[in-house]
Amino acid sequence: MAALDLARLIKAAADTVAAHAEELTALDQAIGDGDHGLNMKRGFEAVRADADAFSVKPLPEALKAIGTKLVMTVGGASGPLFGTLFMALGKEIPADPDRASLTAAFGKAIEAVAARGKSQVGQKTMLDVLQPVHDALAGGKTAAEIADIADAAAEATVPMKALRGRASFLGERSIGHMDAGARSTALLVRTVGQNIGAAA
Ligand code: ADP
Ligand code: MG
Repeated sequence: MAALDLARLIKAAADTVAAHAEELTALDQAIGDGDHGLNMKRGFEAVRADADAFSVKPLPEALKAIGTKLVMTVGGASGPLFGTLFMALGKEIPADPDRASLTAAFGKAIEAVAARGKSQVGQKTMLDVLQPVHDALAGGKTAAEIADIADAAAEATVPMKALRGRASFLGERSIGHMDAGARSTALLVRTVGQNIGAAA
């Protein structure tokens, strides 16, 4: 993989989250407590503030540090889950990953999120985007294709009934709305793909 400009990627991710904060809040208002946009914005602005410090670390250490920062700053249910995703990715990924090692590490990171959330695919959560993205990575899709798969996967949470997180308290009434964490995950997948696509 060609050299990854991690500082640029962090800034792009924080910009994406900031640009979509209101949309994420509106999604979380429909079937949650309406804090997902602010939670994500707070977390990614904290990561942005330390972007230069993260980007001089080797990739595994940088990812672990970003995960730790997200746990400390995002809050809600999604903070520990996104934090776990990045920390586990950092634990599993080599310093200079190729597509195969990235895919394997991402798979392990998804397992860590599922363990932490006691959740699985099909329960209307971020996992419903993470898993198809993993499968698309494994299947050799391009970054643009993977971004579209992530969007479609977030869209596919609309008819699902939530079985984890606050939305599950609504039971059947959670049907008909997109999961906020699935949407934020898809947004981040597109941004990451735009920044590492050529490298991967
Ligand atoms: P909270 O639900 O505490 O208000 P957020 O609004 O920031 O936290 O995040 C909600 C998102 O977190 C949901 O849309 C869902 O994608 C994700 N989520 C919540 N609980 C779980 C879980 N147990 N497993 C996986 N993802 C979860
Ligand atoms: Mg919420």
